[in-house]
Amino acid sequence: MSKKSTAPAGCPCGGPALATCCGPYIAGTAIAPTAEALMRSRYTAYGQRNEPYLLATWHASTRPSEPIMSDEEKVQWLGLEVKSALRLRQRKAEDADLTKDTVEFVARFKINGRAQRLHEISNFVREPAEGGDLRWFYVDGSFPE
Ligand SMILES: [Zn+2]
Repeated sequence: MSKKSTAPAGCPCGGPALATCCGPYIAGTAIAPTAEALMRSRYTAYGQRNEPYLLATWHASTRPSEPIMSDEEKVQWLGLEVKSALRLRQRKAEDADLTKDTVEFVARFKINGRAQRLHEISNFVREPAEGGDLRWFYVDGSFPE
């Protein structure tokens, strides 16, 4: 007899659990090691309406000066699919000299009940942040569709 597993709810980005996935980056107890990890944590932070984290991980050159979330828009994040060549990118990202990377993804969400799909190729740079640690930052994105 097989029993239905009662696994705890996974991370909003699709990872196994928030506490071992995006949680530590958002809490500031760990530094996202790759552009993809940062991108995933930003997706999760959107779902948590964590605007301070989104701004802190946005490169100063493109960081919005206006609020990024509106109280009128009720956004429900439904899922994330990273499309870029994951293994290759993770390997590349371990290279300490890597200062740029891109992540292609599709995020699904609902705004005021209407389903939407965001297909984006995001650009990230890695730079020394306050305190001297190298950190990834979101710069901007292009939309292939
Ligand atoms: Zn996650």
